[in-house]
Amino acid sequence: MEASLKEVKDSIGAIHDYPKPGIVFRDITPLLQNHDAFKSSIDALKQRYEKSGVTQIAAIEARGFLFGSALAYALGCGITLLRKPGKLPGNIVSQTYALEYGTDELQMHENALTSNDKVLIIDDLLATGGTVLAADKLIRSTGATVAEAAFVVSLPELGGEDKLRQAGVACYTLCQF
Ligand code: AMP
Repeated sequence: MEASLKEVKDSIGAIHDYPKPGIVFRDITPLLQNHDAFKSSIDALKQRYEKSGVTQIAAIEARGFLFGSALAYALGCGITLLRKPGKLPGNIVSQTYALEYGTDELQMHENALTSNDKVLIIDDLLATGGTVLAADKLIRSTGATVAEAAFVVSLPELGGEDKLRQAGVACYTLCQF
């Protein structure tokens, strides 16, 4: 597993000054293009969650959809989409949040989850933690339980892991920069 997680980390690109000066954008597109690295990322997540009793993956738009859908298939559970404003056709619940660069909003169908659901949140990257805390609030507002939040990459210097710990949201990451 160690070697395969190194392969995951090594396949992630770094784009300096994108989308703004001073930001190092961690690019998962080379990972997606490398079958072995993408498979290693999904296999590692599958191994961690296959006995967890998770009933739904809550995947964050857009890059969270890529890992979330492959993992939902591997685990044999459903996937709930947490989307940017204006994309979901039904009645929605909504939460705004601060980003490393700007502000944004997440929406979910109000009837997507029930109190019987045990939910795993998935995104590509944890930076300040604002996005995943908004996801956590949306999911808990339905009465569902959040089992954990999982990421391919985390950037510990930006404080997201600490913020999640303080909020009582368990988190797991495949690699850190
Ligand atoms: P945050 O809410 O600050 O934890 O930001 C996480 C979200 O923003 C994720 O959906 C990431 O895809 C995106 N994001 C934030 N910072 C970066 C970064 N440096 N590189 C790539 N994606 C990022």
